[in-house]
Amino acid sequence: MAEQYDVVVIGAGPAGYHAAIRAAQLGLKTACIDAAVWKDGKPALGGTCLRVGCIPSKALLDSSRQWHNLHHLFAEHGITTSDAKIDVAAMVGRKDRIVKQFTGGIAQLFKANRITAYYGFGVLHPDRIVKVKQHDGSEVELQGKHVILAAGSDSIELPFAKFDGDRIVDNVGALDFSEVPKRLGVIGAGVIGLELGSVWKRLGAEVTILEAMPDFLAAADAEVSKVAAREFKKQGLDIRLGAKVSKAEVKKDGVHLSYTDAKGEQSLVVDKLLVAVGRRAATKGLLADGTGVKLDQRGMIEVDAHCATGVEGVWAIGDCVRGPMLAHKGFEEGIAVAELIAGLPGHVNFDTIPWVIYTEPEIAWVGKTEQQLKAEGIPYKAGSFPFAAIGRAVAMAEPAGFVKVLAHEETDRILGMHLVGVNVSELVHEGVLAMEFHGSAEDLARICHAHPTLSEAIHDAAMAVDKRAIHKAN
Ligand SMILES: Cc1cc2nc3c(=O)[nH]c(=O)nc-3n(C[C@H](O)[C@H](O)[C@H](O)COP(=O)(O)OP(=O)(O)OC[C@H]3O[C@@H](n4cnc5c(N)ncnc54)[C@H](O)[C@@H]3O)c2cc1C
Repeated sequence: MAEQYDVVVIGAGPAGYHAAIRAAQLGLKTACIDAAVWKDGKPALGGTCLRVGCIPSKALLDSSRQWHNLHHLFAEHGITTSDAKIDVAAMVGRKDRIVKQFTGGIAQLFKANRITAYYGFGVLHPDRIVKVKQHDGSEVELQGKHVILAAGSDSIELPFAKFDGDRIVDNVGALDFSEVPKRLGVIGAGVIGLELGSVWKRLGAEVTILEAMPDFLAAADAEVSKVAAREFKKQGLDIRLGAKVSKAEVKKDGVHLSYTDAKGEQSLVVDKLLVAVGRRAATKGLLADGTGVKLDQRGMIEVDAHCATGVEGVWAIGDCVRGPMLAHKGFEEGIAVAELIAGLPGHVNFDTIPWVIYTEPEIAWVGKTEQQLKAEGIPYKAGSFPFAAIGRAVAMAEPAGFVKVLAHEETDRILGMHLVGVNVSELVHEGVLAMEFHGSAEDLARICHAHPTLSEAIHDAAMAVDKRAIHKAN
């Protein structure tokens, strides 16, 4: 007889653990299953995000930023030092301690919320039965009145560049290099390629990023991409666009890459190769025959706007369903589904999900880009303001970048906010909040912003929409 639960969640990543905790808060008897183990061989809850994604990448971005600033920024503040050294093992060790702290924290939250954790691989069978093959080899059978599938995603592997965990790696390997590679090749100039490429560049690697697309960061607003590309170039990141890689051969002296670009056949030899060409839903083996849950061509679970799969009582959330592969998108879906199950009006507003790239400068946006507004024929006004004219940014010696506010031509309603610069991962939330409250550029322009702060750039950009920014000519 299967153990009975109100809610069984498969996957304890950001989407799954949010769903489990919210369901438990709402008084539902909840179980959560996760198959992941950390490098010490112990189970680690928290998914890609906590183990090998958001948090460890930011830990290394911050460590490498300290080193970069020491060499490129401190002198401007009148600070010099001559005997600084990098200890990569210590940096990676610090990152691992942070991972342990947070994955352990999820286990404690599960206990505090009386969620039963099962450590092993879960497979959904018909009638919302979930069979779990636990790490000790035993099998348990659970049945949920509701089952939430939150299996997340895995790195896409290129057939000619198989991961070997040493020379050719994905994010997992690139977060664990034991020393700074002399030459690092990256396939893919997306978020992961840029963030991890930046980490090792700052620590001294020669980094070449090969991107098949002709445009840099096509999803971002074009002006933002342009400024970011210029700043990355200054930092020495070698980003080659329109570069289609066809071969990666591991030889004694490194990984030999062949690619074509506008100039024809090219080659490159690197010591390590990071393949960061995207992620795919981790749905392999998740569904037994006869569940009725449908996968699309890319292996994603098909769901409606409320994350319902169409099979009664079966829901799916996070990276394994449509929408941006972002932890906070999964958080919101997890909470919304738990609330829907409890009879509450759970909802996710896809129009106000913020996007962030944690490079230097940081890149962040919410809402539509100028390209999108033009393509959709939506009349708009734009106001932008540079950090170079913001006292706080200059005092920090971080003047690169700008804020741009896009508002509807007639109604003035904010349609998008685009930022590139220091700490914009935090600033973007002013745009998110304004858009959630259906705010106008005029609203932002009339809100008092503390001086001197970086957020004044948002204030002036909002005023610039109406050509009345104070600190620049309009
Ligand atoms: C290097 C990197 C950096 C990133 N940085 C950011 C960032 O800064 N901000 C951001 O928003 N996003 C970031 N992301 C993306 C983010 O990590 C994902 O969007 C997020 O983790 C998805 O959450 P999820 O819960 O859907 O899936 P996951 O986090 O992938 O979790 C799924 C969990 O389910 C388990 N599982 C899968 N199948 C089964 C099964 N059948 N049985 C039991 N367990 C199973 C897996 O082991 C895993 O633990 C980053 C990703 C990477 C790789």
